Amino acid sequence: MQQLTKNVYTDTTIRGCNPSILFTDAGAVFIDTAQWITPLLEMIAFAKKRGPIKYLINTEGHIDHIFGNHWFAKECPVIGHERLNDMFWLVAGDVPCYEYSVDVLERQDPEGLKFMPSKEDYIVNRPQITFSQNMTLDLGSHKVHLYHTPGHCDAQLCVYSPEERTVFVGDTVFVECQTWLHSANIKELLASLAFIETLDFDYLVPGHGPVVGKEYIAKQRAFIFEWIETVRDGMNKGWDLDECIKRISFADRFPVDIGQDEMMDYIQEKNVIKCYNYILDQRKD
Ligand SMILES: [Zn+2]
Repeated sequence: MQQLTKNVYTDTTIRGCNPSILFTDAGAVFIDTAQWITPLLEMIAFAKKRGPIKYLINTEGHIDHIFGNHWFAKECPVIGHERLNDMFWLVAGDVPCYEYSVDVLERQDPEGLKFMPSKEDYIVNRPQITFSQNMTLDLGSHKVHLYHTPGHCDAQLCVYSPEERTVFVGDTVFVECQTWLHSANIKELLASLAFIETLDFDYLVPGHGPVVGKEYIAKQRAFIFEWIETVRDGMNKGWDLDECIKRISFADRFPVDIGQDEMMDYIQEKNVIKCYNYILDQRKD
């Protein structure tokens, strides 16, 4: 785990999202959960040494952010955007999430496998507290602001701590690794990047990759535009969708985030499809 500020810890070195902890007078606030159980349980134990866990916030519903919710079921309420339930704990690709997770543990965190409950005992710990636009948590020493920042997915939110000068943006930003657009609304994603840029902070904790400063938002935006313009060039040459999928790839630009190399082709194909449809929508307007 990396200590970022006096009260913020994050882990950017494990498979899945970057689970983080913000310590406040009212207790610890977790932002997302680790997909590997061993580091997840270490984080929970670390937090509980300093006091109770007050909340778990899910920035979205993809499995790499919510899989660990089970281990918070007896600890604290879960907070998410009101649309989180629509995309929560369904399937990863074609595989049911429970089986998907067991496979991940067998290959990548075998030590953690013994802590995995049976399918019957696994608690799909959905959010008990939801909001539509913004929400502020008053936690004594800290006011924590939650903003709906759709784009990567409908339920996407970001968590902003002015006291720690830190924003946790989830998968609105991927740092030095492949950007997944598979469930994206590109128009909303660009608007959310612009919104996050208006916040006053020093540390941006992305969904994947190392912690950066505000300047990285411009890089993320530029990469998305590069995707769009490359697909647009292909379409202007008369390529149909299949041809674009065959010919366009940014696989050489970044690796896939930790432990998911096998997803490279999937990401390239889905990103082409998203950009292609985005351009078709633009032409309709
Ligand atoms: Zn993610």
